[in-house]
Amino acid sequence: MSLLVIGSVAFDAIDTPFGSTGKIVGGAASFISLATSLLHNQVGLVAVVGDDFDFDFIQSLKNRNVDTTGLQIKQGEKSFFWHGKYHMDMNSRDTLVTELNVLGDFDPIVPQNWRNPEFVMLGNLSPQVQLTTLERLESKPKLVVMDTMNFWMDIALDDLKAVLKKIDVLTINDEEARQLSGEYSLVKAARKIHEMGPQTLIIKKGEHGALLFGNEGQVFFCPALPLEEVFDPTGAGDTFAGGFIGYLASVGRTDFEAMKTAVIYGSALASCCVEQFGTTKIAAMTKEDLAARLEQFRSMMGYELSI
Ligand code: AMP
Repeated sequence: MSLLVIGSVAFDAIDTPFGSTGKIVGGAASFISLATSLLHNQVGLVAVVGDDFDFDFIQSLKNRNVDTTGLQIKQGEKSFFWHGKYHMDMNSRDTLVTELNVLGDFDPIVPQNWRNPEFVMLGNLSPQVQLTTLERLESKPKLVVMDTMNFWMDIALDDLKAVLKKIDVLTINDEEARQLSGEYSLVKAARKIHEMGPQTLIIKKGEHGALLFGNEGQVFFCPALPLEEVFDPTGAGDTFAGGFIGYLASVGRTDFEAMKTAVIYGSALASCCVEQFGTTKIAAMTKEDLAARLEQFRSMMGYELSI
């Protein structure tokens, strides 16, 4: 089933206590597209870059069967740039620089053959652009998943609330769930966020796993794989979202049971993402690598509780 992805395609610079990168490829939609392409072969990307972007990376998306017809390249303009710095625990980070550049006036043009997608992934981007993209579709998708971040809660909360009314699943981290709902308890936060629109909510808790809240009070928890070394958490959330929706699109399902498996796929891919800087690991991964990581999840989670 066709899966439309929008989000930032960008340059990042990452500082961690263990080292820094120069400018490397990043962006929410870069991670999402790479993750989904390991699971599904009908993925279309809508995004924008400047003419300074890394064209080898665009070719690597094409090699993974991502349709990049909707990726605009703005001549004479610069790509979005984000610079983040992680603290010692690698769970918290500060944004040092956000240069919107081409994202500042991004008009998301959806190619004609992508206007009726069954699955839509609204990756991190201005909520206004996320909304415009949905308005440009000609039929209602089976499932719309959205990711966002505190940056947009700070500067565009009303727009964000407007998109929330139009989506099915929201993925955010615990800190953002608390900011959006004004509740410290994640259970209360989930209830308040359900009332804002999304029937399903996923709260990511970094190295402490992810919580899936259904619209009938169902809750599912998926742990994160304990890793000896976390190199760079950038893009873990996007990779998670890509794995989640990529799995659902590949099986064509949107029910809670399928979403439980999808959360495990998302967590497995995210655990790989953080093992190298930027998109390096996800870009090099094969379906066999993913299967091996899923096997680790199966053995970590498999427990028959007799009571
Ligand atoms: P994550 O670590 O999953 O939160 O995603 C990190 C990615 O989000 C980086 O590769 C950035 O390029 C991208 N990013 C950071 N800030 C923004 C923003 N305001 N809008 C869109 N993408 C962003």
